[in-house]
Amino acid sequence: MEKDPTFFEFVYDLFYKTSQRSPEDVSLVFSKKVQYPAINFVPQLEITMPLPRMQDDNYVFEGMVFENSDNGRRGMWGLFLASIYHLAAHAAVSEYFAYVKWSKSKTKEVYWRVIDFIEDVIVEKYLNDIEPEVSKNIENINSRLLLSNKPEDVKLKNDHQKNNLQIYYNKKDKLLVKKIKEEIHKKREGKAHKEDIISCVDMLYKNRHLLHQEILPYCEHHEDERLLKVEKNGIDFEPSEFFEELINKLDELWEINESARARILRSYKKHLKGLHFDSIIIPAGNLQNFTKMKSENIPMLRRIRQQLRMVTNLEDDPKIDEIGYINMQHAIQAIASETWGGEIFDRDELRRGEEAWVILVDSSASVKLKFDKIREFTLCIAESASELTGKSDAWSLYTFDNNLSIIKDFKERYGNEVKARIGDLKNGGLSLLPDALELASRVLAADPRERKYIFIITDGHPSGYENIDERFQEVVKLIEMSGVILIAIGVSKKITRRFRNSARGSDLKQLVSKFITAYRSASSDAL
Ligand SMILES: [Zn+2]
Repeated sequence: MEKDPTFFEFVYDLFYKTSQRSPEDVSLVFSKKVQYPAINFVPQLEITMPLPRMQDDNYVFEGMVFENSDNGRRGMWGLFLASIYHLAAHAAVSEYFAYVKWSKSKTKEVYWRVIDFIEDVIVEKYLNDIEPEVSKNIENINSRLLLSNKPEDVKLKNDHQKNNLQIYYNKKDKLLVKKIKEEIHKKREGKAHKEDIISCVDMLYKNRHLLHQEILPYCEHHEDERLLKVEKNGIDFEPSEFFEELINKLDELWEINESARARILRSYKKHLKGLHFDSIIIPAGNLQNFTKMKSENIPMLRRIRQQLRMVTNLEDDPKIDEIGYINMQHAIQAIASETWGGEIFDRDELRRGEEAWVILVDSSASVKLKFDKIREFTLCIAESASELTGKSDAWSLYTFDNNLSIIKDFKERYGNEVKARIGDLKNGGLSLLPDALELASRVLAADPRERKYIFIITDGHPSGYENIDERFQEVVKLIEMSGVILIAIGVSKKITRRFRNSARGSDLKQLVSKFITAYRSASSDAL
């Protein structure tokens, strides 16, 4: 059954569909820390999108304050959508490299305004071609934004004028701007004349009074402009039916997202009693890192998938291999077309006792394996968990150092939002290993399922408080006695000494196959 997308999944989808680009080419990251959208070149495009924040019962977004009412939020999500479409269109058509040579001898503030002028003209055309209705709504938002900055008498005079050019320019300049815009379209359409755009650039550079004096809040901002901290009153606007539907969807998904997050964080706070974590967080995400990592590890993922499918926890089913084989075909096809869901694995669920997995990844500085390998390993384990359990509510994933990060709660789906969090894993800090294990066992204690596993990826060097080593040994013993199957995976010898089920390997390949063997033997022991 296909669940509704989460807020972030919905926005990713909208962005990548509009830009006709993939997460591998263009990165979209969300942030509550930035005020305005930004485009960075690292060297690929990385687009940062701000998120609404609550401030004294109102929302603050892109330098504007919106009342937390139907009207207020409508204006806010309208602005949010304008950003997403505007930035996606840049990702689709902007050619920033064309200006590199030209910009070298120019002043930064001016050349960015010139580049933005030209690229925005092209962006407007792109949106108008692919989503004329969106274009109209953005145009409507533009008038509201521009008028909200004009003195009252100008406002009255211009209130019914649709064309923003009239608000900006006098008659003579209006004609000139029109001419330049036509020139830009002509130049950019003929793909062969990339250098030609420079003639428009020069024209604008010389007539810089034509350049926009203010940057609209939903557009990308460059370094200094991002620091502006003026909070204006939010805009009111009348979206068309189609745009209103999008706005309502965002509003609804955001509400669900915020309350689900709050609920998840609350439920873990309950389990944190007596533990030493500094904080518990749900990390932001980086979908691009995840997608890249995944495509770099395709052979590994294929192998782990094949090996894992041999693992079964019902002994005497003569047709197991055959069923496994048939499903494998489906699985490979479905994975190749990226449309796979739980349905392929339904038959496996019948064979398998209900399982609950908690996966813990030690992201502390003590882990000897290079951190990018830990991240790749986490990806492999997450992909396997998702396939092997066949149900997204069967597994959860956390990373820990002196903080605990929830990468995937049992209740969350293994979709782009969770995947992005894996792509965003970072390491450092102390290793509160016993605390992480204890938390995992508390989470599982409340779980009604038959078979419970904790997978811990660590080097087994706890650090952070006095007697942590003793505490660690105690916790391991308690968990192993409780019937929860604890499987440890790491690169150091300590791992084999300290856990009953353990796997040690020196590289990713070895670790992955050891992980499978450990899982296989632990699951057959449990019969
Ligand atoms: Zn722009």
